[in-house]
Amino acid sequence: MPDAPKFRRVLIKLSGEGLMGDREYGLDGVTLSRIAGEIRSVVDHGVQVCLVIGGGNIFRGVSGASKGMERTSADYMGMLATVINSLAMQNALERVGLQTRVQSAIPMAMICEPYIRRRAIRHMEKGRVVIFAAGTGNPFFTTDTAAALRAVEMNCDVLVKATQVDGVYSADPHKVKDAVRYDRLTFMDVLANELQVMDATAIALCRENDLPILVFNLHEGGAFAKVVAGDGRFTIIE
Ligand code: UDP
Repeated sequence: MPDAPKFRRVLIKLSGEGLMGDREYGLDGVTLSRIAGEIRSVVDHGVQVCLVIGGGNIFRGVSGASKGMERTSADYMGMLATVINSLAMQNALERVGLQTRVQSAIPMAMICEPYIRRRAIRHMEKGRVVIFAAGTGNPFFTTDTAAALRAVEMNCDVLVKATQVDGVYSADPHKVKDAVRYDRLTFMDVLANELQVMDATAIALCRENDLPILVFNLHEGGAFAKVVAGDGRFTIIE
């Protein structure tokens, strides 16, 4: 890690797709291990870390609904997908020597702890990485909103959004050549210009609670530790 950490407690949001590696679906073991290593390097510097993981690599409610499923059932399937991802990440984190707990918004006693705010905070104070599974526990929400909600509840200093690019751009830089990259944005900039960072509910929750969002590329080795030290390439929204 280049400098002392700038943040004391962070929540990192990973999309389900970020766990697929080169696959079209599901989980890639190498990618999971690599991400676990990135998280370990941050925890080793005394930063308290919690995680929210999406489910898009397995199932998304809207795509089920578009094929005729009832939306609420499809969303519960999406939430279950996040539990699968959370267990896989727990395993990868334990393999790099971290202590972890999974807490689910939908109780499933045989598999993981239920979400209990004070207990989650206590785990982090003891240096354990807490993974929040099953989103908010409610259909019609996303894991971006779950990440904003848990980050606020945990009194995190920042919500770190891991993406495939090194910040927020005016358009998708993989598709638009002259897309502009921003170093710093306000919440209003994001909402007014409909920048694709997180959904509007998540942005509004962060804005109301003065929780900055930091967007960075998790695929660059060492990037997570760097951005937590306020270094490297990222966009900060505040
Ligand atoms: N989901 C939900 N409520 C929540 C969080 C997630 O119903 O609070 C469902 C929803 O169907 C969503 C799916 O879980 O499509 C997977 O989450 P998301 O699409 O946010 O995953 P990501 O795009 O980050 O991989």
